[in-house]
Amino acid sequence: MSEINILSPHVADLIAAGEVVERPASVVKELMENAFDAGARAVTVEFKDGGATYIRVADDGRGMAPEDAGIAFLRHATSKLHDEAGLEAIGTMGFRGEALAAISAVSEVELITRRRGDESGTYMTLEAGDIREMRETGCPEGTTMVVRSVFYNTPARLKFLKSDRAEASACVQAALRCALGRPEISVRLIRDGREEFFSPGDGRPESAVYALLGRDFAKDLLPCASEDGDLKLHGFVSSPSAGRGNRGAQFFFCNGRFIRSQLLQTALEQAYKNTLLVGRFPACVLYLEPSCAAVDVNVHPAKTEVKFSQEKRVFDLVYHAALSALQSENRSGSAAAPAPAQAPAAAPAARPAPRADFYRSMSSADFRAQGYRVSDPGGARRPSEAVGLRSFDEPYQTRLDLASASFAAPIPPISTEKSEKGDKSQTMSVENSVQNVENNALPDYRLIGEALKLYILVEVGDTLLLIDKHAAHERMIFDRLKAQDRRVMAQTLLESVTLRLTDAERELIEENAALLEELGFELEPFGDEDYILRAVPADMESADARAAVEEILETLRGGQSPDPKSARDEILHTVACKAAVKAGWDTDPTELRRVAEAVLSGQVRYCPHGRPVSASLSRKDLDKLFKRIV
Ligand code: ADP
Ligand code: MG
Repeated sequence: MSEINILSPHVADLIAAGEVVERPASVVKELMENAFDAGARAVTVEFKDGGATYIRVADDGRGMAPEDAGIAFLRHATSKLHDEAGLEAIGTMGFRGEALAAISAVSEVELITRRRGDESGTYMTLEAGDIREMRETGCPEGTTMVVRSVFYNTPARLKFLKSDRAEASACVQAALRCALGRPEISVRLIRDGREEFFSPGDGRPESAVYALLGRDFAKDLLPCASEDGDLKLHGFVSSPSAGRGNRGAQFFFCNGRFIRSQLLQTALEQAYKNTLLVGRFPACVLYLEPSCAAVDVNVHPAKTEVKFSQEKRVFDLVYHAALSALQSENRSGSAAAPAPAQAPAAAPAARPAPRADFYRSMSSADFRAQGYRVSDPGGARRPSEAVGLRSFDEPYQTRLDLASASFAAPIPPISTEKSEKGDKSQTMSVENSVQNVENNALPDYRLIGEALKLYILVEVGDTLLLIDKHAAHERMIFDRLKAQDRRVMAQTLLESVTLRLTDAERELIEENAALLEELGFELEPFGDEDYILRAVPADMESADARAAVEEILETLRGGQSPDPKSARDEILHTVACKAAVKAGWDTDPTELRRVAEAVLSGQVRYCPHGRPVSASLSRKDLDKLFKRIV
């Protein structure tokens, strides 16, 4: 008997289905894209629980004739592609004819559709891909699909679904991305019977951004637009002052479709080089409109990844558009329309950029009057004040015994010229420093002062020591926080900070609630969208509170390791970094002295990220530098 089987169509369908329908959110996306492709002007999306029990997408598009409804659920059934030549010029979101087949293979589907101009419509139900019922019905023009019991016949897949909450937030994300990509289509999303968002569909990207991402997000955006031959770009990038702790707010669209692209991400972030702090990320909503021939959408079944045939041109377009938006903000101190970006050989922008002060010029009431959801009753937010002061004056270093000062070991010589020999001696003195810590020894030293508002200069014996005050202080705080057994001291914020979070972010906070509380963050849900931050660790400036939480979310999101200890360390890193004296600050000499002593005692050698905190130049190094000796 032959060992090779031909799979039954049913099994083949199930396997193919897995590629298209990963989770309920994929159903939301595919059904919305079909509605968009059908020329809908308004789409209502509804789901219950995490989407696996119930998803409904209703559109006012062109609908289907009864005979088309009958075959739409077959694999490779599509009205959008006829031959090979069509593949080059595809302009619709779908074209493989796979989605409906895949969805119906793993769920129960109900379809109600009426073609524009037809007298009556069609009602149809399917189970596991087979038509159960089909009849004529009265219904409005357009199409409604109801998908129930996703994965009911594939228990293995069902098992991999996350909590309802996580699946629901993926559904919201999927719907949001679809809606944001098509500002000309009005989308209403209803989750468990309550409206989650409503985009007006007036064709203006700024309306979609405001409705879908909120006022807080919108107010920090700079319009940007650029064009290079058949490549067009428009949209918004965030002001450098509004850098975020993660990349969750970077939205790129290619011909209306949400895409992921390392290329675009790098191009965007390059434009912020030297204006955004390391570890902060720009936000954007950018619409790229290349001619169809310039993109290959046929790369990934879910089609979030695209390939550009001319990567360099696309990169330059995005980079220059973002850069010129940022420069125009600098020139005008904000509120002014940027000139079209100067991409190489760029022609004037196709569409006039909206005014940068668009959002600022409208009040919440204006937006509410237009039917937008406004969830920021507080209006503009100022950095809040904290109760209590930073604990800089408290001795953070009780073990340091100033009396026992003797220069027991040389300062780690870190040569300016890196040589193998230098590296070795560094290791050796590190060992010496370890001894120092144990002895709490502090050498005689002279604090010379501070250079460039960052480096502390210290003379020790024959050696000039340079200390990165931020890195060293960060380490000291980190060590102290870590040593505090379990609970970190919290300070209540005088003015609490409201954080608008995505579903995914809210999930992370819930999952890590205990840890965050232990580390001094008091967060409380506020309404559907927001969290209120009531307290932060005592060391931290209240002005840093928001940024700290964003960074922590990024850390938690990226954290693959379930090890709670390393999550705790990661969060403490962020707290320490935010609490430490910063480069560019004027720092009190007493504080400089404390930091210097912590380094001199050998207690502090590397910042929590592993960078060295100090470098030293011996007399010999200096003499060589000035050619006193050779
Ligand atoms: P594709 O979108 O790749 O063509 P699908 O399986 O998603 O494949 O859909 C199959 C076909 O069903 C589409 O080509 C279209 O003709 C029809 N169809 C699906 N959804 C709708 C809708 N909401 N309105 C009108 N026609 C639709
Ligand atoms: Mg489709």
